[in-house]
Amino acid sequence: MGRRLCAAGRTTRLSGGIQAVSRIDWKELYSTVGAGLKPSPIRELMKYTRQPGMISFAGGNPDPAIFPVAEFGRASTILTERGREVLQYGATDGFAPLKEYIAQWMAPRMGRVTTSEEMLISTGSQQVMDLLCSALVDAGDYVIVEEPTYPGSIHTMRNHRVSFLTCPCDEEGMVVDAIPALVERARKEGKKVKFIYTIVNFHNPAGVTLSVERRRKLLEIASKEGILIFEDDPYGHLRYDGDHLPTIFSMDNEGLVLFACSFSKILAPGTRVAWSVGDRELIRSLVMVKQGVDLCTSVVAQALVYEYCRQGNLEGFLPKIVAHYGRKRDAMAAAFAKYLPADVRFVKPEGGFFFWLTLPGVDTKELFFKAIERNVAFVTGTSFFPSGKGGEENLRSCFTFASTEEIDEGARRLAQAIADLKG
Ligand code: PMP
Repeated sequence: MGRRLCAAGRTTRLSGGIQAVSRIDWKELYSTVGAGLKPSPIRELMKYTRQPGMISFAGGNPDPAIFPVAEFGRASTILTERGREVLQYGATDGFAPLKEYIAQWMAPRMGRVTTSEEMLISTGSQQVMDLLCSALVDAGDYVIVEEPTYPGSIHTMRNHRVSFLTCPCDEEGMVVDAIPALVERARKEGKKVKFIYTIVNFHNPAGVTLSVERRRKLLEIASKEGILIFEDDPYGHLRYDGDHLPTIFSMDNEGLVLFACSFSKILAPGTRVAWSVGDRELIRSLVMVKQGVDLCTSVVAQALVYEYCRQGNLEGFLPKIVAHYGRKRDAMAAAFAKYLPADVRFVKPEGGFFFWLTLPGVDTKELFFKAIERNVAFVTGTSFFPSGKGGEENLRSCFTFASTEEIDEGARRLAQAIADLKG
């Protein structure tokens, strides 16, 4: 009976083997965004990486072997000690003790102790991009992004129907000199660029870091044009060589920068706790948007992170993961140098999670399937190009998830896959 009543007339096989009939023709209901949704390319590739014996350089996952499980167990006492508070709904802008901790701990990076009104705790820094687009972007508005850039941010911006203006990256990060011409192009169309999105340290995927000179120049351009800079910095603490560079936020005194950081890469992504700091008027708008999104970030998660930090664990954990990931970065650089053909180019990143490889004459989409046959996985370069063009000869390789032994073996398999492709 159900089938005859069904407008759409499609059946779906449920996991229990029961035939369900959809009475709704979803295609008639979809919004422009809904109709255009595509699965994240990285999440699609991830299904291959679950093959037995696979060595994955694909996802940007931290190493679970180093998660501070016992310390989180000890921090969970806050759930009983302050249970009546942390099991309740919380303030939309975040759990006050955690905000205070972050403001003090981050003061050297931010150039000062930022105020509570300038900070928002979010459900991952992924959410900040969403809130920002809700607050600033109408369909078709321009945002300047680096090319390549983080696909998660491309996805969120697409959900808001952003039009991309793309700026290339080189060894010093975003080529900021290209920005004025992009702003001019928008102006000629009678439009304003809503913000400039940059991943400043140990870029995902390019591995590069924006030089101090370019940070200064970017700020100058933003100041002249009155454009917001979204400084996305989830990897900033993970520097394996050299000295930390000043955040763009700390160089600004005109409210031009929204700075975002996260506990995902430096602690545990399962917490989904991140924060951003910016002009108090902008933060107030983001808080109002967030009220309509999730009311507040899980107070349980924020309280656990806070108690973990309050017990003094973070200060000890950071040098530990920096040493741990630094060794893995060195292992990947050595393995690539040992096995890969001489014409493959890469820059050893000073921090973060990723190597960005250029393989002249190799289509990395084709290479991906050869690599899967050899049981090693990476992410193809095109996934990082919002314009859909570019990166055909590039791949991203994450060094944090695999063990050092797997890194060596994975690089050997990758070299075999390149040889297989070249015949
Ligand atoms: N920005 C960049 C550049 C990232 O690489 C990631 C995670 N891969 C995010 C934002 C999102 O991080 P979170 O887990 O805090 O949502």
